[in-house]
Amino acid sequence: MPVGPQNTRSSRRSRAARPAPPLGSLTQAAHREGTACGSCGSERVTQLSMSLTDGTPVRFVSCHVCEERTWLSSDGGPLSVDAVLDRTRKA
Ligand SMILES: [Zn+2]
Repeated sequence: MPVGPQNTRSSRRSRAARPAPPLGSLTQAAHREGTACGSCGSERVTQLSMSLTDGTPVRFVSCHVCEERTWLSSDGGPLSVDAVLDRTRKA
């Protein structure tokens, strides 16, 4: 399947070691290392944590630079808008 602009390959910066966040710490809204725009790579993003209607936890990342909007699953993988809408519809 085609992969959109959310192909997060930020190899220019190798901060590989991402410690697994403890469950329950949902208040990590402020600048968290590792969240960057999937399109332009800027870290000037706003992210919101929410749950889809089927209970799937997702993060919504909105870029201030290029206005790219990206959905991420709880493990950090990108979700397509279609997938998000699909899950919302199936509730
Ligand atoms: Zn961007």
